[in-house]
Amino acid sequence: MSRNVVTFHYTLRDPQGRLLDTSAGGQAISYLEGAGQIIDGLDEALHGVAPGTKQTVHVPAAKAYGEHDESQVQRVLKALLPVEGDLKPGDQFRAGEDQFSPIVRVVEVEGDEVLLDANHPLAGIDLTFEVEVVSVRAASEEEVTHGHAHQGEDHGKGGCGNHDCGCK
Ligand code: ZN
Repeated sequence: MSRNVVTFHYTLRDPQGRLLDTSAGGQAISYLEGAGQIIDGLDEALHGVAPGTKQTVHVPAAKAYGEHDESQVQRVLKALLPVEGDLKPGDQFRAGEDQFSPIVRVVEVEGDEVLLDANHPLAGIDLTFEVEVVSVRAASEEEVTHGHAHQGEDHGKGGCGNHDCGCK
């Protein structure tokens, strides 16, 4: 079965209607269908869309960034953290040395201890996307093999923006 690369603009809001993120004024997002490049709920909702489609998509937390997991909230000694200086609620930092270490968020600071939350900031939040589909095209063989969309006017035969699969 052939697969498509979909390019779209989006505006993301929480259940209170607050703006969380938007691609408006920036570059549209391209993804390979069914490749896990965007959250599952959005991938499913946009399956088979036509270019020019404007659609509001509600994605429950479980199909977005997951439910909030209490076991990911932990109290740790400040002295054990890889950060200098004072911490305050809302601060974020990587929990380890390498670039793949999870990002944790400071919930509260109590004396020598810090309450940290390693959940994704959008975990537990039902999301609403206002989507405008810019284009839909068949994915190239290379894109299907790589499992992601390639950027550029040459429709996937050339550039690869942001990964290290070796295709340039
Ligand atoms: Zn690639």
